[in-house]
Amino acid sequence: EDTPNEFYENMWNQIHSGKVFSSEIKNRKKGGEVYWANLSITPVFNNGEIVNFTAIRQDITNAKKLELLSIEDDLTKLYNRRHFNEILEKEIRRVKREGINLSLLSLDIDHFKKYNDTYGHPKGDEILKQVANALKDSTSRATDYVFRVGGEEFCIIFSGLDIEDSMTYAKQIVKNIENLKIEHSSNSASEYVTISAGLIVQNSKYIENEEELYKSSDKALYKAKVNGRNQVYLSNKSK
Ligand code: GH3
Ligand code: MG
Ligand code: MG
Repeated sequence: EDTPNEFYENMWNQIHSGKVFSSEIKNRKKGGEVYWANLSITPVFNNGEIVNFTAIRQDITNAKKLELLSIEDDLTKLYNRRHFNEILEKEIRRVKREGINLSLLSLDIDHFKKYNDTYGHPKGDEILKQVANALKDSTSRATDYVFRVGGEEFCIIFSGLDIEDSMTYAKQIVKNIENLKIEHSSNSASEYVTISAGLIVQNSKYIENEEELYKSSDKALYKAKVNGRNQVYLSNKSK
């Protein structure tokens, strides 16, 4: 049920046109167990007519599990820094094809060192998980991506929104963290745990590369910190 109909349409089109179809596929055994396979289907010809197909499936479940582990952050189960670099590159290519806006939001928990000092490191780890879940819950589209890019630093990539709507969305995300109402007595910005955010929104025609985008959102994040934390700052490179 995770495989879109287009996958099968594309598969049938390919093999009916006489070509070999190969792809990874997520499948289910008769007993219900999920497995991953490398699938290859080859048309068999007789006098120029396709008479049947030969399918070869190789079970790649273990390799796939390892692959999924390698892009996941252990503590929060969000995507990790490595996957951030991959997805940002991929999303830049996609928005350029579609001619739409790309938004990058850099987030950093406020006075988290003081949080650890006050409540202890294990409690700090718990908070990281709660914040990660709240960020995940704040995203809903298939093209929204949440990452833990460092200790108490996160990134969200989203697309298709103008500057104003991106800003509204980012503000809601920052609000959602304070609304968790997690006590943080040494936070200058609130009595609760809060997060600061730097936002850059660019029409695809202005996007240079992933480094520039990340640098701009990080600079904006620094401004949000200086301006008092628990807020979003919009990069002046947004356009
Ligand atoms: P600011 O508001 O300026 O961001 O202040 P800050 O204290 O959050 O920033 P700073 O970069 O000085 O400190 C980040 C702290 O985050 C330091 C470190 O103890 C904590 N931290 C980083 N990774 C982890 C982690 O995996 N678990 C826990 N518990 N704490 C972490
Ligand atoms: Mg930090
Ligand atoms: Mg911080």
